[in-house]
Amino acid sequence: MQQTTNSSTKQSSASSWLDSSRWSGKRFYGEWTVARSTLPVREPATGEILGEVGESQPEDLKSVVAIATEAQAGWAGKSAEERAALFRRTAAVLEAHRNELIDLIIRETGGLRGKAQMEVQNSIEELLHSAAILVHPEGHILPSRDPDRLSLARRVPLGIVGVIAPWNVPMLLAMRSVAPAIALGNAVILKPDPQTPIAGGVVLARAFEDAGLPPGVFNVINGGAAVGEALVEAKGVRMITFTGSTAVGRRVGELAGKNLKRVALELGGKSPFIVLDDADLEAAASAGAWGSYLHQRQVCMASGRHIVLRKVAAEYVDILTKKTSALPVGDPFRQDVAIGPLINAKQLARVDQIVKDTVAAGARLMTGGTHEGPFYYPTVLHNVRSGMPAYDLEIFGPVAPVIVAEDEDDAVRIANDTDYGLSGAVQTGSLERGLRIARRIRSGLVHINDQTIADYAEIPFGGMGASGNGSRFGSMTNWEEFTEWQWLTVGGKPARYPF
Ligand code: NAD
Repeated sequence: MQQTTNSSTKQSSASSWLDSSRWSGKRFYGEWTVARSTLPVREPATGEILGEVGESQPEDLKSVVAIATEAQAGWAGKSAEERAALFRRTAAVLEAHRNELIDLIIRETGGLRGKAQMEVQNSIEELLHSAAILVHPEGHILPSRDPDRLSLARRVPLGIVGVIAPWNVPMLLAMRSVAPAIALGNAVILKPDPQTPIAGGVVLARAFEDAGLPPGVFNVINGGAAVGEALVEAKGVRMITFTGSTAVGRRVGELAGKNLKRVALELGGKSPFIVLDDADLEAAASAGAWGSYLHQRQVCMASGRHIVLRKVAAEYVDILTKKTSALPVGDPFRQDVAIGPLINAKQLARVDQIVKDTVAAGARLMTGGTHEGPFYYPTVLHNVRSGMPAYDLEIFGPVAPVIVAEDEDDAVRIANDTDYGLSGAVQTGSLERGLRIARRIRSGLVHINDQTIADYAEIPFGGMGASGNGSRFGSMTNWEEFTEWQWLTVGGKPARYPF
C-alpha cells in the first residue's frame, strides 16, 4: 500500500459551490425540500461520511410526476435556441467548478484523478452536444395524398423520462441520458445510485438550478430498488433509461414492458481483448492492463477476458504480470496510486470468491489475489478456461483473466462465447487481420489496436446480447431515443366527406 502523501493540499481545495447546507437532508423535487429520512454517503477508501441526502419514498412518485408534468409543457414550448442556451450555461457552471467536482468524484467513487477528470470533461461535452443536436432537423415533409394539404412527420418529446443510474461513473452516466432528454423537451426524474447521490444527483440539480432551468423540469429521487421500481411503474413516466447490471436491467425491462413504456437498457459486459501473435506485446500488455484495471475494473466496458494466441501467451502473461505487480494501490484522493478501493465490502468479497474459485478450478494465479481493507490488489489469472467463474462472470474488481487460444478462429469463438456483447478489442500488427476479426466480434463497440474502454458524446453507445436491449446513447442517436414521431397534416380549407 502507498503511504499518505498529499491529503492536506487536496482536502483544503474544497470550495463552497457544493456547500451541503443547501442540499443536506433534502430532495430535489423542483426545489430543495426537507426529507423525512436521510441516506449517508460514505467515502469508500476511508469510510468517512461525505454528506447526507434526503431519502425518497415510493409514494413520493405521484407528487414528483405532477411537478414534472406541469413543468414539461412549458419547457417543451420554449424555442430550440432558448433550450440550447440553457445547456451551454449548464456546461459553463460545471466548467467553473471543475476542480471541486473532480475531488468529489474521487472521494465518492474511489476512482483515480484521471478518471474523475474524464468524467467531468465528458459530462460537459454531453451538455454541449445536447445543445448542438437542437440544430438538427426535427422531421420531414412527406409526400401528400392531397395537393392542398401539407403532410409532416415531426419528432415530439415523450413527456417525462425516468433515468436510473449506477455508482461507478455517476455524473456522466446520469448526464448522458438527462441532458439529451431535457434538451429535446422532456422533463426528467433521476434516481442516482444511493452510494453516489452527490456526484450522481446533487451536482446535476445544482448545475441546472444555477443555469436557470425552470423548476420541475429536472428532479432527483434518492433511494434503492423500491424507489427505482416505483419510478419505472409511475403513471405519467413515458420512458425509462437504465444503466446498471443485467440482472436488474431484466427486472426494469419486465416492469417497463408491463406498463407499456419505452425502455433503454445499458447493462453489463465481459468484453474480449484479443492479442494476436503479430501484436506489439509491450503495447498490448499496457493497453490490456489499462482495460482491466481502470477504476479497479468497475467499468462495464472493461477488458473482461484477455484472449491470447498460444504462440505469444507466455511472453504476454510475463509482461502483463510485471506491469500489474508494479501498480501502486491505495487511497486515490490522498495518494498517488493506480488502483483505489472497491466500492463496498460485498463487492470485494464477491471478487475474492471468483478469484479463489477460479484458482481452485485450475487457473494459475500470477500476481494479486489478496486485499487490504477495501483495496484489492490487481490480479492476473493465467490459463483460465470455459466453466471457470473468471471466464463466465462479470468481475467488478481489478482482475485480468488470460485465456489461451489456438488460432484466429478459436480466438473469435472464445470472444463470442458469452451472453454479453458490449465492447471488444484486437491487438495485431496487421490491419487486415484486425479488421477480419473485429467484423466477427458480436459487440456494440470494437477497437483495433486499442483496449475496450471508451465512450464519447458523439458515438452510438450501446451493447448487443445481454449488454442491452438495442438502445444507443449519443448525439447521433439521441433524437431517436428521447422523442417519438407525430404525423401532422394541415390544410387551408376544411376537408369534405360524403357523410
Ligand atoms: P445495479 O444494477 O445494482 O444498480 C444500478 C441502479 O439500479 C442503481 O441506481 C440501483 O439503485 C438501481 N436499482 C437496483 N435495483 C433496482 C430495481 N429493482 N428497480 C429499479 N432500479 C433498481 O448496478 P451497479 O452495481 O450500480 O452497476 C454495476 C453494473 O452496471 C455492472 O453490471 C456494469 O457492467 C453495469 N454498467 C453498465 C454500463 C453501460 O453503459 N452498459 C455502464 C456502467 C455500468
